[in-house]
Amino acid sequence: MGKVLVIGCGGVAQVAIQKCAQNDAVFDEICIASRTVSKCDDLKKKIEAQGKSRSKITTAKVNADSVDELIALIKSVKPDVVLNLALPYQDLTIMDACLACGVHYVDSANYEPEDTEDPKWRAIYEKRCKELGFTAYFDYSWQWAYQEKYKKAGITAILGTGFDPGVTSVFTAYALKHYFDQIDTIDILDCNGGDHGYPFATNFNPEINLREVSANGSYWENGHWVETKPMEIKREYNFEQVGMKDMYLLHHEEIESLAKNVPGVKRIRFFMTFGQSYLTHMKCLENVGMLRTDPVMFEGKEIVPIQFLKALLPDPASLGPRTVGKTNIGCIYTGTKDGKKRSIKIYNVCDHQECYKELGSQAISYTTGVPAMIGTMMVMTGQWKGAGVFNVEEFDPDPYMEALNKWGLPWTVDENPILVD
Ligand code: NDP
Repeated sequence: MGKVLVIGCGGVAQVAIQKCAQNDAVFDEICIASRTVSKCDDLKKKIEAQGKSRSKITTAKVNADSVDELIALIKSVKPDVVLNLALPYQDLTIMDACLACGVHYVDSANYEPEDTEDPKWRAIYEKRCKELGFTAYFDYSWQWAYQEKYKKAGITAILGTGFDPGVTSVFTAYALKHYFDQIDTIDILDCNGGDHGYPFATNFNPEINLREVSANGSYWENGHWVETKPMEIKREYNFEQVGMKDMYLLHHEEIESLAKNVPGVKRIRFFMTFGQSYLTHMKCLENVGMLRTDPVMFEGKEIVPIQFLKALLPDPASLGPRTVGKTNIGCIYTGTKDGKKRSIKIYNVCDHQECYKELGSQAISYTTGVPAMIGTMMVMTGQWKGAGVFNVEEFDPDPYMEALNKWGLPWTVDENPILVD
C-alpha cells in the first residue's frame, strides 16, 4: 500500500518498525533513518533474517536537527508518511521538513527544546507559564501553531500516538462515543509493575524520562491548571494483574489536549507508579546536579550533566531480557449516560517477557511502538484523514481500538472500577 520513513531507531522505533514489517499489507516499504546508520542496518538485518516480512527495508543516515538534511532525505525516499520516533527535540524540524515536501507527519511525544536555558525559547516559556499556569517544559502550542500551514498544504499531522499520550486519548474518544453522554472526570493511571533487577534504570530515554518525573505535577480542574510540587500527591491503587502500588500525580501532555477536546470535562489527572528506591535515586541525582540540562565546564570541555548521566545508565533497549512483570495502563472515567451516573475503566495489561519473546523489547517500548505503528497505519490507509494538525482523540476511535486488539495490545472495559479519591 505505501511507504513509511521512520526517523529514529531507539527502543520505541525498534518495536514500531518490527510491527510495520509484520503489517506488510499496509507497509510495502520502510526506510529507517537516524544519525547512527549501523543501528538501522542491524535492525534491517534482524527483520530480513527472520524472512517473514514482504516489506522492503532500506536505511539512511540523517541528522534530524537539520531541516535541509531531512528535506533531502524525504525527497529521495518519497514516503507517504514520516513517523517521527527520534526525540521531542526534533519535532519541529521534522514537521517543517514534512511541510516543505507535502508529506504526512506522525509522532509520539510533544515538542520540548533540548536547551531549556536558550533565552529566546525561555522568554516564550515564561510567558506561557504565567498565562496557562503550568511549568512543564513541553506543551502543545509549538506544534498546534502548524495548524493553518498543514491545512493549507492539505497534509495531516497526528500528534502523540504512543500509549500515553496515544492509546489513553483514543480510550477517551471511545468512552465518549460508546459509554457516556458527558465525561466529568478522567484519571489516567500508568503502572509499570516490571522489575529489571538494576538498582536504577529508566524504561525509555533517560533524559526525557527524568525531566518528566522530576518536574512539578499538575492537573486540570474546572477550566484551569492546578500545579503541585514534584511527587506531592500520592495514592495507592490495586492494579489488575499487578497488585497494590504507590502512584504519584504528574503533569502529562495529553491532559492539555483532552482538556481542549473533551467538552465539559471537569477534572483530568495523571498518575504514574514509582517504587521508593527509584524516587530516592532520582532525588539524590537531582540534589547533586546530575539532572541539569544546561552545559557545565568540566576539565576544559562543555558537558550537559543529564546527557552524561544517560551515558552511565543502562540503555533502555537493553532491559528487555532482564525485565519481568507486567504493565497496566488505562483510564478511569466518571460521568453520565442517559441521565444516569456511571464510571468505567479501560485498560491494557502487557507482559514484559511476552514482549521480549515476540520482538526482543520490554513492555514500555512495546506499548509505545505498537500504537505508533497503528497511528501511522490509520493515516496510510486513510481511515483517519484530514488536513491540519490533530491529536488522536479527534478521530473515530473504533478502527484504532480494533487494531490494538489485533496487533498485541488487547484492552478491557471494567464497568465497576475502583475509583481514585
Ligand atoms: P531512544 O533514546 O531509545 O531513541 C531515540 C532515537 O532517536 C535514537 O535512535 C536516536 O538515534 C534518534 N535520534 C536522536 N536524535 C536524533 C537526531 N538529531 N537525528 C536523527 N535521529 C536522532 O528513545 P525512545 O525510543 O525511548 O523514545 C523515542 C520517542 O518516544 C521519544 O520522543 C519519547 O519521548 C517517546 N515516547 C513516547 C511514549 C508515549 O507513550 N507516548 C512513551 C515512551 C517514549 P541516533 O542517536 O543514532 O541519531
